[in-house]
Amino acid sequence: MNHRSLAFRLTVWYALLLSATFALVGAGLSYGLEQYLRSTLRDSLRRRSVQVQQILAQAPADVADSAVAEAIETRVAPEFNNRFVRVTRAPASLVYRAGVPADRSFDPALVPLQTDAWPAAVAVRPIATAAGQMMISMTPVEAASGKYLIELGTALGPIEALQHRLLRLLAVMLPVLVVCAAGGGYLLVQRALQPVERMAQTAERISVLNLEARLPVAATGDALQRLSTSLNNMLSRLRDSVAISRRFLADASHELRTPLTIIKGELQEAMAREPGGSEVGERIGSVLEEVARLEYLVSGLLVLSRLDAGDARREWADVNLGELAAGTIEHMRLVADDRGVQLQASALAPVTVRGDARRLKQVIVNLLDNAIKFTPRGGVVGVTTRQHEGFGLLEVFDSGIGIPPESLARVFDRFYRVDAAHSRDEGGAGLGLSIVRSICSAHGAEIEVESTSGSGSRFRVRFPQPAEVPVGASAT
Ligand code: ADP
Repeated sequence: MNHRSLAFRLTVWYALLLSATFALVGAGLSYGLEQYLRSTLRDSLRRRSVQVQQILAQAPADVADSAVAEAIETRVAPEFNNRFVRVTRAPASLVYRAGVPADRSFDPALVPLQTDAWPAAVAVRPIATAAGQMMISMTPVEAASGKYLIELGTALGPIEALQHRLLRLLAVMLPVLVVCAAGGGYLLVQRALQPVERMAQTAERISVLNLEARLPVAATGDALQRLSTSLNNMLSRLRDSVAISRRFLADASHELRTPLTIIKGELQEAMAREPGGSEVGERIGSVLEEVARLEYLVSGLLVLSRLDAGDARREWADVNLGELAAGTIEHMRLVADDRGVQLQASALAPVTVRGDARRLKQVIVNLLDNAIKFTPRGGVVGVTTRQHEGFGLLEVFDSGIGIPPESLARVFDRFYRVDAAHSRDEGGAGLGLSIVRSICSAHGAEIEVESTSGSGSRFRVRFPQPAEVPVGASAT
């Protein structure tokens, strides 16, 4: 469990609040119950005292103690009702004392005699006796037969026992309740965070490649809904600005082509007029080289902008990669021979992929062109095609200079070159592999490279088989 997660922290707060609430409610309940029971007990003691009071008030002046005792036993039945009753005649003669109660909650013999001055009015109070805590009401009575003190009480033990039982029950219930509520709370918080999780998953998949995708909008009518709507609006604005810059790139590279063609034509014409070996002729020649490089760059940018616009998906058909590779190798054999590099085309199995043949050929051309460019004389460059684990595989390998590990992840970036000077000498502008990757993405294919500095590289393109080509495969 992630201790820093929102769900965990909310649950801990929830559990703490809940425990505090339960503890407060438990303490309040126990206190309230005690107060209620004590006040009920006081009322009951008062009522019974009144009964004894009536017996004494109605008794004749010469009433015998035994008659008083009998009347009390009959009307109040203290032992049966678990009550303590003691009647004392002033100054200190015991008239009656009830026996041991039915529930044996106290021993009447242990309740101390009231030696202090008798109370002037009815007094009910808790008293600690050798028989335990008791609640005793004391009622002074003036009757014809004399002055009496009626003591009527009961043990507080049963109330305390009830209170303890309640507290014990709460102590057992509280952790169980808190654990259940916290568990439920955790699940609820996780459920409440699910829309955020879904938004995050979708956001993970959104990149500049698929700015048409939108986050799911949680119809919660709160901050969450506002957040997803605002993020979607932001995505729309991003898509618009990316579209503007793509259009700019496409327009700029398109517009540059015509003046470049005119400059090239003019320069070629001027060069033709110069006598061979003249200084001006040589200068025009080197400017022409730069113009050729510019042309290459501009056409690369134009290709990329067209791929960005989804151009590669227009002319799709079933393409046999094996045949396409064989044809391309034959076209490039001259270049390879020229550089003293041996071209191998021995393992070209027929592999059908769905795509734009012209663009797929460009993938093979760019990969082969690099392989030949970066392989010293006497080296080997090869192409293989085969079916593998449900994919159509195209591999271009060489025994060339290889790519240093720190550059492996960047070689597909636009304008990235490991050794800019060398690459420039070779006429490269750092666009070849980004065009390859864009075409691959448009075909739902993945490209990866393995390379060891000094011993060669292997570019592997994995095409989905025709039935699996994703409908929305997009261009980079
Ligand atoms: P360029 O047009 O400059 O060749 P690319 O995008 O085709 O640009 O390649 C980018 C860089 O990756 C190259 O400059 C080169 O340093 C490196 N690279 C590409 N293919 C190979 C290869 N087969 N062997 C060694 N380095 C390579």
